[in-house]
Amino acid sequence: MNFKDMTKQEIIDYINGIRKKYDGKIAIPAHHYQNSDLVDLSDLVGDSYKLAVECAKLSAEFVVFCGVRFMAEGAAVLAKENQRVLHPDPNAGCPMADMISEEEAKIAFDKISKLSTKPIAPVVYMNSYVDMKAFCGEKGGTVCTSSNSKKIVKYYLDSGFNVFFSPDHKLGINTAKELGLQDDEICKIKRDLSLEGNPATARMFLWDGFCHVHVDFSIEDVANIREKYPEIKVIVHPECLKEVVNASDSSGSTQKIYNEVTNSPDDVKWAIGTEINFVQRLADNNPNKMIVPLRENKCYNMAKINLVNLAEAIESIDKYYMNGEELKNEVFVEEEYRENARIALKKMIEIVES
Ligand code: SF4
Repeated sequence: MNFKDMTKQEIIDYINGIRKKYDGKIAIPAHHYQNSDLVDLSDLVGDSYKLAVECAKLSAEFVVFCGVRFMAEGAAVLAKENQRVLHPDPNAGCPMADMISEEEAKIAFDKISKLSTKPIAPVVYMNSYVDMKAFCGEKGGTVCTSSNSKKIVKYYLDSGFNVFFSPDHKLGINTAKELGLQDDEICKIKRDLSLEGNPATARMFLWDGFCHVHVDFSIEDVANIREKYPEIKVIVHPECLKEVVNASDSSGSTQKIYNEVTNSPDDVKWAIGTEINFVQRLADNNPNKMIVPLRENKCYNMAKINLVNLAEAIESIDKYYMNGEELKNEVFVEEEYRENARIALKKMIEIVES
């Protein structure tokens, strides 16, 4: 079908019709940063931790993942044997995840292992590709998300390791500060693999990656919004710069922001420093509260997923059943990575739920 020529409502009706036809066989998880049309159609909405945990519990035969590629890949890693994962647009990647490769991680790991006073545990942010998750699983490390990075890093520090944290330097440094680490206990690994800091005293080694959506928030944005609304509470994502986190009233994962804002009294005014789709939806869902973006920053990769490519993925499931045709944009995980990536993801869930 040519969905591009259809109205929004016609596409939504088509997607719902196919889902009804294959009752319970198709699940649509969506990340909080997806637009409202996709969120409204989804069976499951959350941040990357919630989606990883909940997707692993799904019994649907087909999981059509609305999020960026590393998230769909994570769902495929944890998928049950009979489950197939589809990603509506494989070009929806994540620039931060692209900032480190397994090869670079191996060189960095070997280098800091020689200089560190303790053995190194690699911890990779969920916003990474499967090769990095597998690398961490193989080396006895794990995955973390912005909602659990503090608990995960503390687990390894308390167990006698120093931590190699990648790819997000900002989440790494905000986590280190939350754990009370001093500046000389943090060492940056630059992209050319040189070190900034003292490896002999470092407890966390942070890769030099960042999310362009979140590093764009500035302390001037915080000052400007406070000047405009003196009573406003500013809450930001920990992928923001440390100075911005420090200037804000609180910080936390997308799910934490969602919970804190939703559960606050109506007279609290909020400025939110994270992706605009999510901020807009929070504002729409809480009409009695004043909710404004700290700045309108959009993740253009998340925005690549839309009703048209979702409908095309769903249509391919119908054609697969009817005529045995190939599924569109099925996510395959290389076997050499699957097992170790699964070990790393399961370790994260085990640490968080212990
Ligand atoms: Fe990647 Fe940032 Fe977009 Fe998240 S918001 S998918 S980290 S670019």
